[in-house]
Amino acid sequence: MTPLIIAARAAVKAGADHLRLGTKDFDRLLAPDREVAFRMYVEIGGDERNVEGWRIQHDRTLGPGKGGMRYSPGVNRNEVAGLATLMTLKNALADLPFGGAKGGIALSTRDLDGEDRAAVADALAEALAGVVGPEIDILGPDVGTGSADMDRFAASWAKVTGAHSGRGVATGKSLEAGGIELRNGATARGCLQAIRVARKRADISPDVGIAIQGFGAVGCELAELLAADGHTIVAVSDSSGGVYDPDGLDLGRLIETKNESGSVTDHDATRIASIDVLTVDEASIVIPAALQAVIDVDVAESIQADLVVEAANGPTTLDGLRRLATRGITVVPDMAANAGGVIGSYHEWLAAREDRPCDGGHAEKDLCQRIDRSNAAMWDRAESDGVDLRTAAATIAIERILDAR
Ligand code: NAD
Repeated sequence: MTPLIIAARAAVKAGADHLRLGTKDFDRLLAPDREVAFRMYVEIGGDERNVEGWRIQHDRTLGPGKGGMRYSPGVNRNEVAGLATLMTLKNALADLPFGGAKGGIALSTRDLDGEDRAAVADALAEALAGVVGPEIDILGPDVGTGSADMDRFAASWAKVTGAHSGRGVATGKSLEAGGIELRNGATARGCLQAIRVARKRADISPDVGIAIQGFGAVGCELAELLAADGHTIVAVSDSSGGVYDPDGLDLGRLIETKNESGSVTDHDATRIASIDVLTVDEASIVIPAALQAVIDVDVAESIQADLVVEAANGPTTLDGLRRLATRGITVVPDMAANAGGVIGSYHEWLAAREDRPCDGGHAEKDLCQRIDRSNAAMWDRAESDGVDLRTAAATIAIERILDAR
């Protein structure tokens, strides 16, 4: 089993144990409602390729499945199942009328041009035609996918199924195709809000140093928001490595460098290994915003921060979590920290459903309020029940699902 599904199942178990659920309820919570494995034969760069994929609707008690679609060469059924489980908990915790789902195809995006991507989206629409829909299961972008993929998938799905519009079957679309302005920054905006709640609860000053692993869609925007909030960004990394300045990195120049050269490591700050950004002395808050399972037991042993905020999905292994707990380091779990994206998606979906434009201002206000409410409820529950934040978050999510059954 991959670390991600182990961590996702452990979160469900922690919540279920805390609620003293019987085996029947627990087994039902763990087992996906529906999973589809498929093969697509698609022409990429002039060659016909055989691409394997999965769409897993983990739980649809609270509404249609909702979750991203990733294109990644190493993706497998277990990774998708773990991510779908996490979406179930995340959507329930944010009090959205969505169940949890996720999908993935085993494909490297490195050499895909625009035409290839369109062909992949068309093949995906054929493969998933009867499996997804605005009231069944709604896609969104994830690792390796973006708004152009969602636009094409939505249009192609409408063609294949004969639906009058595909606007409601995928979110994270471009503005022209019915997306919302906020969606691109929604995850980072929600993460900032979760950090603001955590700072108050854990009594952390709003000007402490922060380190971020991952300088992509989430990490880069979050760095800008945190700097504007008064923090010093002391270390960041991307897939090429990390840079570090105990006095604070020059974010404007860093973004310029990243845009010009493709990497943060061309910036003239001290270079360090990518994973070491999470262990620098000057960071009181560290944010994994890149990959899953990066904080293992060794990294957990070296982290100097008071707070870990999981912007990425499943960045901490189960052993890593145990070690952080024994060292007294608080972890704001992914399901609470990175729900901003799916809350933005909810507003995009709602606008499609009601056939109206989406009001970005209203969506952002609701996003902040939902993150405030869900994170406050999690901190309250952890305090009142004497459990860690992940157990508290999973407990609240599971209660909502069971109440709706
Ligand atoms: P992205 O592809 O835009 O960025 C990923 C970043 O991680 C890139 O800067 C990449 O260079 C970096 N990276 C890759 N390997 C690395 C390594 N070994 N060390 C350090 N950095 C490395 O992806 P994203 O959309 O920013 O997503 C990041 C994480 O956040 C993922 O776990 C994703 O599932 C999660 N997430 C994203 C959203 C969203 O709305 N984009 C929502 C919820 C959760």
